[in-house]
Amino acid sequence: MCKWGNYEYVKLKIPADLSCKGIIVWKWVKIDKCIAPIVRALQEGNIDMRGSCCGHGKSFGEIQLQDGRILLIINSREWYNNRLFFLFKLFLKELIKKFKKLVFLIILHS
Ligand SMILES: [Zn+2]
Repeated sequence: MCKWGNYEYVKLKIPADLSCKGIIVWKWVKIDKCIAPIVRALQEGNIDMRGSCCGHGKSFGEIQLQDGRILLIINSREWYNNRLFFLFKLFLKELIKKFKKLVFLIILHS
């Protein structure tokens, strides 16, 4: 994973709901350098996406697809050496998300 600010430009199809004009546009966008080839390949394969981040060594790399799925990008050596740790981290991340939503709802209703 590369450090923040280490990027490459990739021409991306920006979905209408994310574009300023409200229509689908093609735009050169800064993509984290270590995942830029994957993002470029997805674009060339007509797989629409909404966003991406390599995680910069602090989190999983991920590419959010337009259809709602997420591609997780994990170094294979780290994955095979620390599978349980990664799964725990994923579980923790989801748990924190759910907890934040719950706190928000409690504040909203009180
Ligand atoms: Zn990176």
